[in-house]
Amino acid sequence: MSIASPPPPSETIWLTEDRPDAAELGLCVHCGFCLNACPTYHDLGVETDSPRGRIALMRGLDSGRIEWSPRVQQHFDQCLQCRACETACPSKVPYGRLMEATRAEAFAHDKWPRRQRIIWRLIMRGLFPYPRRMRLAGYGLMLYQRTGLQAVVRRTGLLRRFAPRLADIDELSPVADKPFYATNEAGNVRPTHPVRGRAALVTGCMMPLAYPETHRATVRVFTRNGIAVDAPDAQVCCGALHAHGGDVEAARELAKRNIDAFTPESDDLPDAILINAAGCGSHLKEYGHLLRNDPDYKERAAAFAARVRDVHEYLVEIGFESPHGRIERTVTYQDSCHLSHAQNVRSAPREVLRSIPGLTLSEMRKPDKCCGSAGIYSVVQSEISQRVLAEKMEDVLATNAEQVCTANPGCMLQLDAGIARFDDERRMMPRSTHAIELLDEAYRLGNEGESR
Ligand code: SF4
Ligand code: SF4
Repeated sequence: MSIASPPPPSETIWLTEDRPDAAELGLCVHCGFCLNACPTYHDLGVETDSPRGRIALMRGLDSGRIEWSPRVQQHFDQCLQCRACETACPSKVPYGRLMEATRAEAFAHDKWPRRQRIIWRLIMRGLFPYPRRMRLAGYGLMLYQRTGLQAVVRRTGLLRRFAPRLADIDELSPVADKPFYATNEAGNVRPTHPVRGRAALVTGCMMPLAYPETHRATVRVFTRNGIAVDAPDAQVCCGALHAHGGDVEAARELAKRNIDAFTPESDDLPDAILINAAGCGSHLKEYGHLLRNDPDYKERAAAFAARVRDVHEYLVEIGFESPHGRIERTVTYQDSCHLSHAQNVRSAPREVLRSIPGLTLSEMRKPDKCCGSAGIYSVVQSEISQRVLAEKMEDVLATNAEQVCTANPGCMLQLDAGIARFDDERRMMPRSTHAIELLDEAYRLGNEGESR
């Protein structure tokens, strides 16, 4: 495909204020340095499924040179939004922002099939923004697993035969075997060491159900390091999935509710707004951009975003206590795309892991290559997602690590599905974990050693 500089826009196709910014589109100089970093270009092998090709499509739409056909839409839909291309790009093209803007336009243009739109409204607008409904769904999952129904469904393979999309969701479902996390738990854990700061924990929509122990470990780790942690009860889903899908209206509503919950109009703001899920963290840091045109919220959104810290980032920033407990284990660390490529947090999680006595960090060949999870991508683009995961698992298993650790619930679910599917020979690898849980474990083992 030859890529020429587009003529100046005549009649714009864009409908909303969220349109891709023409100046940002113009930053791409077609050098192609991003191609090798792109998992979909690697998998599908066509220019239009590369960052450069997708930017050319956006520019084609912007200038009116091309029509927004289903084929064009498919190339946008097939992007993982992993942002590996941003890391590789010497011209600093803000690809993630451009793709979100393009998806916002696709949403406004009604470019999705009707069925997809109905499902989106039911789940993304009718379920995710409501913590009580999410909790009810979590209990439903718990019942499905505890009664053994899930095991029967998987053994018979019937779901895969008659409803493969549902089988994909079933395969990616978390194990609901721990009490769900409640926001009031955080405030009940008081710092055991002199208090030197105050943080508010973003609990999110999925984490309290899928990984409640990660939240418990986060609160224990920070209180041990002298940070009092609270989790505002009025908080809701951060809206990352909505923004990535193009539903910016819903994303803005959720952002405003969180700003009201975390930073009520007073001077008494927390020192940090803590997040242990990379995808949510990168979106929370974008609240200022999301609400840039809202006169009532733009300043508060920018102030909120400036306080957001990924847990590893904040631990290193405040200087955390080295643990004394030994964990004799070899682990490998998977950089979540939205922590490494979007937030540029790479060394902090490794610093946390390397602080643990006995733990060996065995690096993958490409630890920051996407695992194929990408929000709901693993469900809506399951074939590409599975191929991307297969490559990731090859890299994981080649490290001979006993456990894989990462920093995002979507990645943990995807890697667990990968372990179940690809770790056939060894069947040894336990479920994936979060670095903060390993640090918490090392603190606990250290305490036990001291009390003996
Ligand atoms: S975000 Fe990821 S999948 Fe999309 S174009 Fe960039 S590198 Fe490729
Ligand atoms: S590396 Fe950047 S400038 Fe070069 S083609 Fe890719 S997006 Fe464009």
